[in-house]
Amino acid sequence: MTEIVNKASLKTVLLQHIDCPLCRCKKCHKVVEATDHQWGIEGRFTVVQCDQCKHGYMNPRPTLETLAACYPSDYGPHQLQPAAVLPLDDSTTKNHAAVSTPWYLRYLPLRYIPGLRRFFYWLTDERSQVTPSPFVVNSRPGSGASPQAFELGCAAGAYLARLQTLGWQVAGIEPGDGPVKMAQAAGLDVRQGTLDTVSIEPESFDFAASWMVIEHVPDPRTTLTQLFTLLKPGGQLAISVPNAGCWEPRIFGANWDAWDLPRHLHHFSPGSIRRLLKECGFQEIQITHQRTLLNIFGSVGIVLTRRNPANRLGIWFLRYPHSPRLLVQLLAAPLAQLLAFFRQGGRLTITASKPQDAKSPSANQASVEPETST
Ligand SMILES: [Zn+2]
Repeated sequence: MTEIVNKASLKTVLLQHIDCPLCRCKKCHKVVEATDHQWGIEGRFTVVQCDQCKHGYMNPRPTLETLAACYPSDYGPHQLQPAAVLPLDDSTTKNHAAVSTPWYLRYLPLRYIPGLRRFFYWLTDERSQVTPSPFVVNSRPGSGASPQAFELGCAAGAYLARLQTLGWQVAGIEPGDGPVKMAQAAGLDVRQGTLDTVSIEPESFDFAASWMVIEHVPDPRTTLTQLFTLLKPGGQLAISVPNAGCWEPRIFGANWDAWDLPRHLHHFSPGSIRRLLKECGFQEIQITHQRTLLNIFGSVGIVLTRRNPANRLGIWFLRYPHSPRLLVQLLAAPLAQLLAFFRQGGRLTITASKPQDAKSPSANQASVEPETST
């Protein structure tokens, strides 16, 4: 067991060697060794690949008890307030427009170009390039009934608020104390905890989402099985994860933005996430390569600030993924489109469905470790 300290919070992180979290194989080989570029937790962290199922995972990794110490209190995704993410259909929540629309889209003649603002949100929504609307159409259980949506790791509830304005009844869970309070203050049904600590009635949702979360959870197989359990038969799942199977990690090596060690415990490829979803019972699995270069901007920032942390261009690149600019996004769009077309996007959005005739395991069964299936 290795002990490291988060210097910002002075909390201790304990690292422990593990077997493959997906197939329990003990044999693996090193892929990369990297430091924490984002939040500066000291130490060097290793990503390995399982010799048997080829899953990429952090090993050794923080113990379950000390995992929370890897997250700063101002962890990025938690800062989004419910009003800060605009629905792709502006007309549904006009009141929110002033919060998140850049000034140059509000006051310059640019705002009169038809579709430009919509295109901007399409490009800058890094959590999903698949908009909520198709899900609304596909999974409405019938006229009159209000469809139920759930989000795992909903942060301050920005995405849930968006679904709510589209007519969904929404609920979410989130481990962070601060974001939960923000979501509850906005009137959302958000409970603090994880799928292991919050009990949810099986088969109660038509749609479950989890954006950039599955790579953080200790046991993705259990988490996806739990999501499967809380979906109604025929219900839909939508998740997103970084794509360790694309060209980016090969080019940037230890400087790849999306390693995000020691917080990303898993590094999926399109093949490995598809296989896992299948093993958890999902069907109709569709993988979309997101049209975004945000990982590349972050990685260039890491490279430029490595030797000189005060490098101004490097700092701009590092900050860029947190506040994308219209002009840059437009300039980058052709390359982003091309990479997505060749299935080399750095982030994946995955949708899947629970079969209509799926057996309904009890909530308890979902948290039991499934047997090795590879
Ligand atoms: Zn494995």
